[in-house]
Amino acid sequence: MEICDRYDVIIAGAGAAGLNAALFLPRNKRILLVCKEGPKSADSYLAQGGICVLRWDGDHDAYFEDTMRAGHYENDPLTVEYMLRGSRETIADLMCAGVRFSRDKEGELLYTREGGHSVLRILYHDDRTGREIASRLYAQVRRLSNVHICPYTSLIDILTDGEECEGAVLRDEKTGEVKATAADYVILATGGVGGLFRFSTNYRGLTGDGVAICLKHGVQVKDVDYVQIHPTTLYTKKRGRRFLVSESVRGEGAVLLNGAGKRFTDELKPRDVVSAAIYAEMEKEGSDHVFLDLRTIPPEKVREHFPSIVRRCAQEGYDVFSVPVPVVPAQHYFMGGVKSDVDGRTGMPRLYAVGETCCNGVHGKNRLASNSLLESLIFAKRAALRIANTYQPLGENAQKRAMQGFDERDYRDERALAEEYGNLVKEEMKRSKAAREKQAEAGGNGQKEAGMQPGPAGQRAAEERNPAAE
Ligand SMILES: Cc1cc2nc3c(=O)[nH]c(=O)nc-3n(C[C@H](O)[C@H](O)[C@H](O)COP(=O)(O)OP(=O)(O)OC[C@H]3O[C@@H](n4cnc5c(N)ncnc54)[C@H](O)[C@@H]3O)c2cc1C
Repeated sequence: MEICDRYDVIIAGAGAAGLNAALFLPRNKRILLVCKEGPKSADSYLAQGGICVLRWDGDHDAYFEDTMRAGHYENDPLTVEYMLRGSRETIADLMCAGVRFSRDKEGELLYTREGGHSVLRILYHDDRTGREIASRLYAQVRRLSNVHICPYTSLIDILTDGEECEGAVLRDEKTGEVKATAADYVILATGGVGGLFRFSTNYRGLTGDGVAICLKHGVQVKDVDYVQIHPTTLYTKKRGRRFLVSESVRGEGAVLLNGAGKRFTDELKPRDVVSAAIYAEMEKEGSDHVFLDLRTIPPEKVREHFPSIVRRCAQEGYDVFSVPVPVVPAQHYFMGGVKSDVDGRTGMPRLYAVGETCCNGVHGKNRLASNSLLESLIFAKRAALRIANTYQPLGENAQKRAMQGFDERDYRDERALAEEYGNLVKEEMKRSKAAREKQAEAGGNGQKEAGMQPGPAGQRAAEERNPAAE
C-alpha cells in the first residue's frame, strides 16, 4: 500500500462529498483520499434526476416549505437555510469545474421537477446528472498535486486517544494489507447504507462504515432509522443493485398504474407517500409490482431527457414507448447518520462527516428529491473551509501515541469486521426506531402526528426498511 505514515487530512470516500472536500482544502496540505472500490463506484455517479437550486429569491419560501414538508417538519430549519442560500454558489462552482447542465436551443438552462417540488427548480444533465458532476469533480481533484488518491482502500477504523481523532486505519482491498496513518483531520464521506439491504438502488459496497466506526467509538449518531424508500425502481427477479427510474420521469408526466391499468395515486407527492401508496396497491392486488407509464410524455422528450432509462428498460425487455414498465419501491437513501453541524463537525474533535454518511438535519424524516447532491457539495465545502480556517496540527506526542495504540491483528479477520460493523448499524437502526415508537406512545411527537401512523402499507414499507443482509 503506497500510503505514508502521516497526512494532514484523510478523506474516506470519493463521491460528490469527498471530492468537493478535497477541492476546497488548502493546496499546501497533504491530503489522502481513499475509496473502498473503484473511483466510480459511488452513488454520486448514479444520480439521474438532477440538483436543486434556488432559482430566484422569490422561490425561497416555497423551496424551504417543500423541503420541510417532505421532511415532515423534522428538518433543522437553520441547516435548510444554509443549503438554500448556498445553492447558487454551488452551481457556479460546478460550472467552473466544467459541469454542463441541459439547456434549450437558445442556451438557457432547463429546469425540471420531481415529487414534492411545487415549481421547476432542478438542473439536470439528461438523466446522467450525477455522472456529469462527479466525473468533472474527479478530474479536477486528479489535477491537484497535494491530493493522493488511493482507490480500493477502505477506512476500517480511526485512531483516537478516546477524546480526539488522530488518524485512520486503512485496508488495501486488493492485498488485505492493513496500515495505520496519523492525520490532523479525518473526513468521513463514506456514503449511505444500501449495501445492508436486500433491495437497494445503492452500490453494494456502501454499508454505513463511517456510521459503524462512530458507533464503535461512541461518536454521536442521529436518526439512524430514517431510511428512504424510492417508489420506482425497475422490477426484476435478478439479484444485485436495483435500477432507479428517476422521479423526474413522473415530474415530466409519467403515471403510475395498477394491474388493471388504472391510476391510484398522485405521482408527485413526496417519496414516502408515493411508496406507501404503491405498497398499498400491491397488497390489494396481491402483486409484487405496479407499472409506470411513460407514454404520457411526448416521445421526443423521453428520448432527449431520459436516454439511460430508455436503454436500460430496453435491455430488460421493455420498450417504454409502447408498454408501461413494472416498478417496485426499494431502499434508496439514508437521512440519518453521523451527527454533524453545518460545518461537518462531529462530536469528536478533528473528525468531520459530510454527505450521505452524516446527519446535519437538512432532510428531516424524508429527503426532498434532488436535495442530496446539493447538500453533499455545500456542507463538504463548508467542512473543508472550516478545517482550513481553524487548522491546528496534531502535537508530536499525539501522533506517536496514536500509532502506538494500533495493533494490526485486531483487523485481520475481514469478514468478522464487516459483520461487526454491519450489525452495529442495524442494531442502532432498531434501537432508534424502538426509542422513537416509545416516545410516540408516551405522547411525544414521533409517529402519533396526523398522517404519520403506519397503516398496513406503512407496516409493509417498514418491514422493507429493516435491513437484511444478502
Ligand atoms: C440511483 C440513485 C439516483 C440518485 N439520484 C439523485 C438525484 O437525481 N439527485 C440527488 O440530489 N441525489 C440523488 N441520489 C442521491 C445522491 O446520489 C447521493 O446521496 C449523494 O451522491 C451522496 O454522495 P456521497 O459523496 O455522500 O456518497 P457516495 O457518492 O455514495 O460516495 C461514497 C464513497 O464512499 C466510499 N466508501 C464507502 N465506505 C468506505 C470505506 N469504509 N472506506 C473508504 N471509502 C468508503 C465509496 O467507495 C464511495 O467512494 C441518487 C442516488 C442513487 C443511488
